[in-house]
Amino acid sequence: MRETIQISSRYGDYDVIVGRNVLTRKTLHIDCLAKAKKVAIISQKNILELHGEKLLKSLSIPKERLFIRTVQRSEKAKSIETCTRLWQELLKEGFSRDSLIVAFGGGVVGDLAGFVASTLLRGIPWLNIPTTLLAQVDASVGGKTGINVPQGKNLVGAFYPPKRVIVHTAFLDTLSKKELKSGLGEVLKYAIGIDQRVWLKCKRESFKATPSAGLVTACLRAKADVVTKDELEGGLRKILNLGHTLAHAIEGAAPAKMSHGEAVAVGLRYALALAFKHGVASSEYVSEALDLLGKAQLAKRPPSGLTFTKLLPFFAVDKKSEKGGLTWVLPTGPGQCKLVKGLDNNQLAKVYTEF
Ligand code: NAD
Repeated sequence: MRETIQISSRYGDYDVIVGRNVLTRKTLHIDCLAKAKKVAIISQKNILELHGEKLLKSLSIPKERLFIRTVQRSEKAKSIETCTRLWQELLKEGFSRDSLIVAFGGGVVGDLAGFVASTLLRGIPWLNIPTTLLAQVDASVGGKTGINVPQGKNLVGAFYPPKRVIVHTAFLDTLSKKELKSGLGEVLKYAIGIDQRVWLKCKRESFKATPSAGLVTACLRAKADVVTKDELEGGLRKILNLGHTLAHAIEGAAPAKMSHGEAVAVGLRYALALAFKHGVASSEYVSEALDLLGKAQLAKRPPSGLTFTKLLPFFAVDKKSEKGGLTWVLPTGPGQCKLVKGLDNNQLAKVYTEF
């Protein structure tokens, strides 16, 4: 089964091709690849060891046109130093505007390779082939690319969508449990408050094995719908932060204590508790949503010792904190949510302590 999701973007429309086995010569048959005099694969050593052969076979490009560059296997790869190295190496190899970059990896590789593509010679085409669950259901769609700077994560970047995204879900079979869980946090976010199609798929999913291609497709449709309506994060896209206000605060106040997905899961539980307290979510819906989170075996509580007082400064720097107070995304029913402003700190602290 293969599905194509079309994304419209002011920087050029693109297709996301998704299915269990969709990385083929046929799906890679795209103008910018056929015309590319040179092609650079940007990836990580472990990913190439696992899946490089499949990629090379599908690309089938003569050796003299192909350059393979690997980057560090951590957030550290999203740095200006790695960009400088890649810019210089590709320029030395004679890369021009009719060359192509292929990102082959998780969100780190996608964000970095996309940013290098957006800046090299003021922009050269790129393809994104995401290999983690988080990258397949979230990072690969929406056109955001970027790197980290000492002042914070993802603070330098560009909206620069790829020419095509190929989501070959069989790659997920080699992911560690930890990385799968990291992506599941985002999957459950769509189910609980963004899109009813994902809710229905999650109800049928056992979460014991690699997520089905159908579930990944539903998530991609959910994200595509939101980013198509609000490409540059003017408004609607804020709903994608459901569960992330607490998650970012946990990651800020207790770095490395929890994976991103686990922190999002805790954030989703907190958002459900707030929504119930606020009278915008029924007890039946909340308990069904908690059942889904339980089925996925994601974390239930913040790291021990993390009091509300320690989290508070991190809420203030959250990107949804604007004039009139922090905007909370509260889930209101299967695949639905609303934005709520002005929840007072006493109320937030009380729900946090009870939960
Ligand atoms: P990651 O890219 O660091 O990958 C996690 C680990 O999985 C790495 O060690 C990687 O080598 C390994 N891996 C990748 N594919 C594999 C496979 N098929 N089998 C086995 N191992 C594999 O982490 P991530 O969670 O994919 O991405 C996190 C990044 O994504 C962050 O930097 C975040 O800022 C970014 N992000 C971007 C967006 C966006 O819209 N651009 C959205 C969400 C997150």
